[in-house]
Amino acid sequence: MAAVTRFHLLQPSTLLKSSSILSKYHHATPFFTISANNNTDLRQFRRGRGYRNLSTIPPLRCNSENSSSSTESNHSIVSDLLDYLNESWTHFHATGIKFSGSLRLCILRMTEAKRQLVAAGFHLLNENEDWELKPGGRYFFTRNMSSLVAFAIGEKYSIGNGFHVIAAHTDSPCLKLKPKSASSKSGYLMVNVQTYGGGLWHTWFDRDLSLAGRVIVRAEDGSFSHKLVKIKRPLLRVPTLAIHLDRTVNTDGFKPNLETQLNLLLATEADKISNEKSDASSKAAHHQLLMQILSDELGCQVEDIANIELNVCDTQPSCLGGANDEFIFSGRLDNLASSFCALRALIDACASPDDLLNEHAIRMVALFDNEEVGSNSCQGAGAPTMFEAMRRIIDCLGQKIVGECGFARAIRHSFLVSADMAHGVHPNFVDKHEENHRPVLQKGLVIKHNANQRYATSGITSFLFKEIAETHNLPTQEFVVRNDMGCGSTIGPILASGVGIRTVDCGIAQLSMHSVREICGKEDVDIAYKHFKAFYRTFSSIDRKLKVDF
Ligand SMILES: [Zn+2]
Repeated sequence: MAAVTRFHLLQPSTLLKSSSILSKYHHATPFFTISANNNTDLRQFRRGRGYRNLSTIPPLRCNSENSSSSTESNHSIVSDLLDYLNESWTHFHATGIKFSGSLRLCILRMTEAKRQLVAAGFHLLNENEDWELKPGGRYFFTRNMSSLVAFAIGEKYSIGNGFHVIAAHTDSPCLKLKPKSASSKSGYLMVNVQTYGGGLWHTWFDRDLSLAGRVIVRAEDGSFSHKLVKIKRPLLRVPTLAIHLDRTVNTDGFKPNLETQLNLLLATEADKISNEKSDASSKAAHHQLLMQILSDELGCQVEDIANIELNVCDTQPSCLGGANDEFIFSGRLDNLASSFCALRALIDACASPDDLLNEHAIRMVALFDNEEVGSNSCQGAGAPTMFEAMRRIIDCLGQKIVGECGFARAIRHSFLVSADMAHGVHPNFVDKHEENHRPVLQKGLVIKHNANQRYATSGITSFLFKEIAETHNLPTQEFVVRNDMGCGSTIGPILASGVGIRTVDCGIAQLSMHSVREICGKEDVDIAYKHFKAFYRTFSSIDRKLKVDF
């Protein structure tokens, strides 16, 4: 005990009482807004009709605090999610951007996340340049067109205050073209692919598939730019073997060899033109026929295509289903549904200038690539992208005199919601779930627990997150995996252990996870959106009431 008396217990929050460094900042200029009172207007705006020149377009106002509470509580984002899913065939489309010429030239056309953020008044930052930030400002940047960090700074922010973050991932299990994809078999032109992530590969058979992704294009002046491409017509197919040639498939299971039996059918070699082109390009990395289709889509010459990075995609549009249209049938729900709910919650929680007026924290969304393969990449959650951004924000607002102490205090005040889809109980496989933890569709976000830290949820973080739901009359559910089964994981533990940030793991319940065609409940999407928006708007006040050691 004697030794203990020599140590003073420090409260992180009292190391530097509210700094006066930021007092020189004044309120941000209010954003001009346009009303988007119905979904049709909103969708038309987002689909690109009416916004040719982004610089003349006022930021879009979604659902602000000024909306009547009944309108807001009834507002559904599901149709917008369907639009987002149908636009976002790849992680690039979900996140990225199309540039004209060099990377420094103006933005010509944005893809979904960026388009929505710019429309909502968020300013695009470049990680390669100095940032100028101010309280009340809204900002974002992307990396590799597949990870994104967006944030809005509270007007009352002072150094050491926290970041309130929702993090999700933009990638999904899929098939990706090999660097040399062209092959020929038995008179067919085939396309060879790599498997990405832990997909349910049998679901990719007999689907109408196509290609989408990023292409590096050589310009006339010798410079290179990247272009997003999406070929909407069914272009590829992996046929299953007929039952007559595989009599035991229904009893022994379908176990395709992923190297030799998952190649995609592009064309027959019977066509004269295909034959000629195929012969001429027999040593080419990709079939000439495929490259011609790509160049037609891009409006360039085949010779100008310097490199391609393409995913195989299902062409069937995302849609509502079920007798009451209560389900969402779509690919990539894991985890674009979470990404979209997080983005919309941030945009709508900062829609009006008043939204940030009394905010002491920084509201943030962080979307990462490569979660499905472990997150260890430049654009994955294993890279320090988000924490570097936090340091830069603090340095920027504190005029670079803050030091590590400011960052450490900010982290201790921060809270991370790791949002990733959850396993709803399957009616035909009920026993796969622990008997008291069987999340069902349409019953709210699932809080994920794991004693072995496969999820980062703690008693404190689950309490805080559920408290938000309770004060907004939103349902939640709990999930824990059976002791006799392995547990999945998320970016939650990676980020939580990176710098010691309080984290809760949660997600929308779904079925058919990692199938080419997944299912979730429409109601859950709206509940997640409301829960996330409430997190941004009320976490500061709820956190202030917490008197515990965390
Ligand atoms: Zn996921």
